[in-house]
Amino acid sequence: MTKHVIRNIETIVAYDKKTGTHAYLSDADIAFDDTAILHVGGRYDGPFDTEEQGRGRMLLPGFVNIHCHSDEEPLSKGIFDDMGTAALWGQAMYEYSTLIEISEEAREASLTVMLGDLIRSGVTTLLDIAGPHDAWLPTLVKSGARAYAAPGFREAQWHVEDSHRLDYRWDPAHGREAFERALACVDAAQAHPSSRLGGIVSPSQVETCSPDLLIEAAAAAKSRGVPMTVHAAQTMAEHEELLRRTGKTAVRYLDDLGILDENLILGHCIFIDSHSWTRQRSEADMALLAKRGTTVAHCPVTFSRSGMILESIGRYRRADVNVGLGTDTYPYNMLEEMRRALICSRIAGKSVFDLKTSDILEMATLAGAKALGRQDIGRIAVGAKPDFSLVDLNHPAMQPIHDPLRNLLHCAAERAVEAVYVDGRCIARNGRPTELDYDGAVQVMREAIKFTLDRTPANDPRGRSLFELAPLSLPSMSR
Ligand SMILES: [Zn+2]
Repeated sequence: MTKHVIRNIETIVAYDKKTGTHAYLSDADIAFDDTAILHVGGRYDGPFDTEEQGRGRMLLPGFVNIHCHSDEEPLSKGIFDDMGTAALWGQAMYEYSTLIEISEEAREASLTVMLGDLIRSGVTTLLDIAGPHDAWLPTLVKSGARAYAAPGFREAQWHVEDSHRLDYRWDPAHGREAFERALACVDAAQAHPSSRLGGIVSPSQVETCSPDLLIEAAAAAKSRGVPMTVHAAQTMAEHEELLRRTGKTAVRYLDDLGILDENLILGHCIFIDSHSWTRQRSEADMALLAKRGTTVAHCPVTFSRSGMILESIGRYRRADVNVGLGTDTYPYNMLEEMRRALICSRIAGKSVFDLKTSDILEMATLAGAKALGRQDIGRIAVGAKPDFSLVDLNHPAMQPIHDPLRNLLHCAAERAVEAVYVDGRCIARNGRPTELDYDGAVQVMREAIKFTLDRTPANDPRGRSLFELAPLSLPSMSR
């Protein structure tokens, strides 16, 4: 096995076993092979095959993204960003986003664009919730990243009547078939020869699956030794629907089903009983989440774009809830997601003290690793996977430097990410994924949008075109 050493790295964000979190380590060597980090600290005197210099660089643990969607999401860029259904609390998802259809030919390209964008922002592990397709697992493996395939399934489809009422169209037989297909996909991912691929059981939404299906899904995840993830408490429309059906919040409902536990990851868990938009004004959900050890997958960029905010990360963390980070959809930029999470938390918490820069790093690394049941990722320590980013400390956007992590998060972001490694292998350099045909995929996407434009009126119950549904942000003027 080839051994690599990087000497005299200016700053390593290393894992301190004594405190259980990250700390700055200056002027240090790191040695690794393709399975593990062999050395972090002073001069490495062991054998090596390659050697490079780390002066002017910061080495960061790879980010763990516990919630993203490929499928049609990368294609949806810039379409419904100014839209929402007023009667559904301004959410665009139910009436608008579901109209975006992707052609089968574009699925691989869409996935490639998502993976490329995530990797170049420092993501080394990701959890992709999508519909299974032939290119899915091979493309995840090809990217070089560590990936969890979470094939979604549900028994009900959303239907919005006349822009004001959310209905559920149930088809349990179809849902059951999708469940079986999803489990076969999870098993294929788990059995895949690549040690970087895994599977996650993923009922799509808490309110589009029957209680029985949710319970069976949780049991299927447990028997396979894999986590389960489900969207829950993600919108006010869902919150009110569950109240109407069961009299319970999503968190309480899942707990009463017996499946709220440390094996469960909830996307996005915003509208819990303590959120100011709900009518409950109690604190029971937060305590339950903490008591059961359930993880929240927080994706602030897409929700804040719709005027919605989790209240607040600091509050969840002080209650001892494990909060990890995801990007959900475009722009698939983990560093931007981290920055937004920090800002949104301080706005929602009405305090600069609500969340620290170190807290965000911990969420994007250790909390995500915990959600996936792993102690070997999201940290730079001997024995951990060699998954990391190298940041160019000499990049103009990083100058002048007092605190390199703050500069990266609050200013430079992915511009200063020089290289990203997984299993000791470089999978992105100078903003370019090395294993994927990113440019080719972008070309396919440019064509794929035409199919989407053509299909939208047929998908919309009222037959509206994409331009009627999503008018451009500026009017057109004549030359
Ligand atoms: Zn999602």
